[in-house]
Amino acid sequence: MRYETGAGRNGGFRLYDYYSRRANLRHHRRSRVILGSHLSDYLLERGHRVICVDNLVTSSLRNIEHIRTGEFVFMNHDMTEHLEIEEPVDFVFHFAALASPVDYLRMPLHSLKVGSQGTHNALGLAKFKRARFLLASTSEVYGDPQEHPQPETYWGHVNPIGPRGVYDEAKRYAEALTMAYHSQQGIDTAIVRIFNTYGPRMRPNDGRAIPTFVRQALANNPMTVYGDGSQTRSFCYVDDLIRGIVLLAESREHLPVNIGNPDERTLLELAEAIKRVTGTSSEIVYEALPVDDPQQRRPDITRAKQVLGWQPEVSLEDGLGRLLSALGAASPAR
Ligand code: UDP
Repeated sequence: MRYETGAGRNGGFRLYDYYSRRANLRHHRRSRVILGSHLSDYLLERGHRVICVDNLVTSSLRNIEHIRTGEFVFMNHDMTEHLEIEEPVDFVFHFAALASPVDYLRMPLHSLKVGSQGTHNALGLAKFKRARFLLASTSEVYGDPQEHPQPETYWGHVNPIGPRGVYDEAKRYAEALTMAYHSQQGIDTAIVRIFNTYGPRMRPNDGRAIPTFVRQALANNPMTVYGDGSQTRSFCYVDDLIRGIVLLAESREHLPVNIGNPDERTLLELAEAIKRVTGTSSEIVYEALPVDDPQQRRPDITRAKQVLGWQPEVSLEDGLGRLLSALGAASPAR
């Protein structure tokens, strides 16, 4: 159902992809795929066919209007409803979700429904098509973590009835369903736990820290840091994320793998970094911390390094510069 196309904790770039199964994608030039705009770009460049399924509730056709190839197909469809694809499908990338806190707080039942019914439908499709299935999970499965940094073996610290529970528990259920389809039905599945991600095409009003701070900084408006700004996040540039996700899709791994940038910053440090790269005259103002806002978050990427040979390459400052360039904004510090 909900596909978002932007960056974010889960990057935002969400959809679906399908392409050649059992297979190293590098050896399947005509694979068939669906997913969010950045993943679509990446796969189309490598010769795959992409079927993108999105109901446009949190995304926009503007994110794919630059795509001009007959190998890209768009379907406007809600993943909580049964989906039929006429042609062969080799990979299913299940990215449908409301990943931004402002969206899942606005549509809590939809968040639960797309994580449960939407994941069920996507797994059913993968089973019918004999496709490899990749679930976009999230660092939110770790909740407000008491273990730091977070390895995949950590079970998490989640408030099921708090405001974030409608997203966190939906993703935890989706992981459980994916593993059950794997162990009981023999479906070839993968789970990526995506940490905070950013990049071009995020909605300026999507509510998350980087698009909010950049929008405020470019308008010389006050930058709204929640709480005292001592909470931490670790921000991954979207190109690094997509590269890691495709490596995972190409692998034979079934257990969850964290993909994120371990460069941890406080939110105040993030706001200062955005002040520097934009050269804004904005001041920083402090607002109330949202309920259950995790105090710290940093991925342990040991498994990603070992299993996929992956690690991020784009620094925060470089990634912010790329983001500003994509927005057509000058970047004085670059
Ligand atoms: N945040 C902030 N100001 C904003 C938006 C977000 O200080 O205008 C904080 C938020 O409270 C959280 C961090 O930035 O501590 C990251 O929030 P985001 O919504 O980007 O992602 P998530 O909390 O899901 O990691």
